[in-house]
Amino acid sequence: MMSVSQLASKVLDGGRVSADEALLLYREAPTHVLGQLADAIRFRKHPERVVTYIIDRNVNYTNLCVARCNFCAFYRPVGAADGYVLGFDEILAKIQETIDLGGNQLLLQGGHNPDLPIAWYEDLFRAVKARFPDFKLHALSPPEVLHIARLNHLAVPEVIRRLIAAGLDSIPGGGAEILVDRVRKLLNCYTKASADEWVDVMREAHRAGLRTTATMMYGTVETHEERIEHLMRLRNLQDETGGFTAFITWSYQPEHTEHGGFEETGVDYLRTLALSRIVLDNFDNLQASWVTQGGKVGQLSLAFGANDMGSVMIEENVVRAAGASYCMDEVEIVVNVEDAGFVAKRRNMHYDVLGDPIFREREVPRMLSLATARADGDTSVPEELKNYPARSRGGKRLRLAQ
Ligand code: SF4
Repeated sequence: MMSVSQLASKVLDGGRVSADEALLLYREAPTHVLGQLADAIRFRKHPERVVTYIIDRNVNYTNLCVARCNFCAFYRPVGAADGYVLGFDEILAKIQETIDLGGNQLLLQGGHNPDLPIAWYEDLFRAVKARFPDFKLHALSPPEVLHIARLNHLAVPEVIRRLIAAGLDSIPGGGAEILVDRVRKLLNCYTKASADEWVDVMREAHRAGLRTTATMMYGTVETHEERIEHLMRLRNLQDETGGFTAFITWSYQPEHTEHGGFEETGVDYLRTLALSRIVLDNFDNLQASWVTQGGKVGQLSLAFGANDMGSVMIEENVVRAAGASYCMDEVEIVVNVEDAGFVAKRRNMHYDVLGDPIFREREVPRMLSLATARADGDTSVPEELKNYPARSRGGKRLRLAQ
């Protein structure tokens, strides 16, 4: 086995590390060495000192979910009084607000709601594209695609084909957590998608021509070896398809979850990010997760392998439910990027640069807190839901009452 310094030379020469070598670096390399290696790779891939970000909005169309992952503080069980499904009009209004702030896509994800058949998603996507033809839908993580496939007795490729026909542009890499079944069983997320199933959905999406992202949520029950196994699975699929645009990692947020426990430290985040940059040598883009780590660690991420600040976000419900409530608008993201010695540029979902910060081109309102899915206490039920047959008892009751 090589020493840390031999491994460092190998990485600097452009060599690919094995799982064992990655583990040695993760366990034994000093933090500044991991940072230097990640930074060197990042500069090899992005020599122009640009840091990108996207203006978009995280919309969660429903919080009702049958999966019940024990690390999740966002979901409500089917039939819960504070469960919601957003109406098409509410979602269209959120898109208009996003466009007004210079945004060009929604990150649209939600719970596994048994009362939304595939036609609901198709009609929603078509309604979005009819009103906003150029607006992009980065929507439905692999476990949601699987849920739709199971609920509607369809094969995954058919679900993807139909959703693309309706307007799906890209799939977010959510729901990956750690792609090791031992971990997934302990987190009660094995039945929503096994590690193989998550990878298979992404493979099908890439085959259908979609670009997607990949994620990792670490810091629950997994070992360091399992974090590395996760990265290897992503690297292997990327070798096979080349379909991933970017990788995002964040630490488990424990507040209000069934699993409980503690959050990993900022140093662990930076080490994990740097290791990801080293292992994922076939990924172009790594995002900083400032929404879980805060703006300052987000800024430091730029020295630990990240070349993208993710999204201005506008709205966030999932991480907030688990206790983190960092907010940065475009002005603040740009200040953090520039103070770190980089040039900030707006991008689209394919990481094409769109231009300079929008607030330098025109007046946009400052955004001092992130929006939520709905105002507290709003329990309204959208009109159009009655057009879609419900599967759950609570959902059927609700339809009858409409
Ligand atoms: S993480 Fe997603 S699938 Fe799991 S309980 Fe939360 S909303 Fe449901």
